[in-house]
Amino acid sequence: MSNLNVKPFDRLGRTLADLRISVTDRCNFRCTYCMPKEIFNRDYKFLERTALLSFEEITRLAGIFTSLGARKVRLTGGEPLLRAGLEKLVGMLAEVPGVSDLTLTSNGVLLPRKARALADAGLDRVTVSLDSLSDEVFSAMNDVGAKVSDVLAGIEAAADAGLTPIKVNMVVQRGINDHSIVEMADHFRGSGHILRFIEYMDVGVTNGWRLDDVTPAHEIINTVNDVFPIEPLEPNYRGEVAKRWRYADGQGELGVIASVTQPFCGDCTRARLSADGKLYTCLFAVFGTDLREAVRSGVSDEELRRQIGSVWSERVDQYSELRSGETVGIGQKVEMSYIGG
Ligand code: SAM
Ligand code: SF4
Ligand code: SF4
Repeated sequence: MSNLNVKPFDRLGRTLADLRISVTDRCNFRCTYCMPKEIFNRDYKFLERTALLSFEEITRLAGIFTSLGARKVRLTGGEPLLRAGLEKLVGMLAEVPGVSDLTLTSNGVLLPRKARALADAGLDRVTVSLDSLSDEVFSAMNDVGAKVSDVLAGIEAAADAGLTPIKVNMVVQRGINDHSIVEMADHFRGSGHILRFIEYMDVGVTNGWRLDDVTPAHEIINTVNDVFPIEPLEPNYRGEVAKRWRYADGQGELGVIASVTQPFCGDCTRARLSADGKLYTCLFAVFGTDLREAVRSGVSDEELRRQIGSVWSERVDQYSELRSGETVGIGQKVEMSYIGG
């Protein structure tokens, strides 16, 4: 690992290609599947300001991850646009050698204020989450009364700023918003934006996930196909999480992320850095490796590179492939709002 040109493989032969950076564990939504209000309330202990990695610390670590092979960097959270001055961090990351795709996932409501500055700073694209076009359904899901029009305004602002192609994430929950599938497909087909249906996952422990609440990918596909015929597309690259489809009438592309019913751990090239500097090599991890401690204790880049490289080399994660009655609800997994989606 001391040779700077060596890119590590993990124990299952997977390289490190993507880095997801959570910049805050706070959010202005309380999506019931991610940050249920009963838990994420006034008494919840969010990270202290001083616990968060600074922009300089994040940028330094990003440089080390790129030296180990990471090319795609995604900012996430919590809601990343709540982190003050985020465009400054974007500008710093855009300068890191090796970063070829710099993106952000957001609930969209702050994009009308932020999209232009983010694009000017060097952000390439955004993914915006939207679970329904019905205000009644959407408000019940975000649980803070945010309106569909607020998110659509965010998507429009991002498109105007050139943060395209925009991906739109819809988490599908049986009996909650599965009746919105066709309406969402209809709205986004022909728009140039790529709608991606996401199977509801058992991330964290606070959302009370049950397999019965998952609408499986094949059912989502059939529901769309019955109304708007679709055909499969080849992946853009190895390790792409979304299975790609296109409308047979030429109205664009859609995707399905089937991490529950069709897991893709074999191609998982993602590392995750939490807002307080812990490195996780799986969304369903229980433990992370504290990099903040190392960064703040003044170790060299070479030593950090050795530490991160060795975590990756030891990696055996394949939670979704092994998901079973025993692993679901094991009671310790970290929360999505902390680790970053
Ligand atoms: N707040 C931003 C947002 O909502 O886009 C970024 C962070 S959020 C954790 C990232 C993505 O994870 C969102 O698209 C969200 O819908 C998705 N997500 C959160 N909890 C999920 C779950 N239990 N299953 C599937 N997707 C989930
Ligand atoms: Fe916030 Fe995103 Fe989680 Fe919803 S999914 S609570 S917007 S972090
Ligand atoms: Fe990657 Fe873990 Fe998801 Fe498998 S379960 S695809 S290893 S993050």
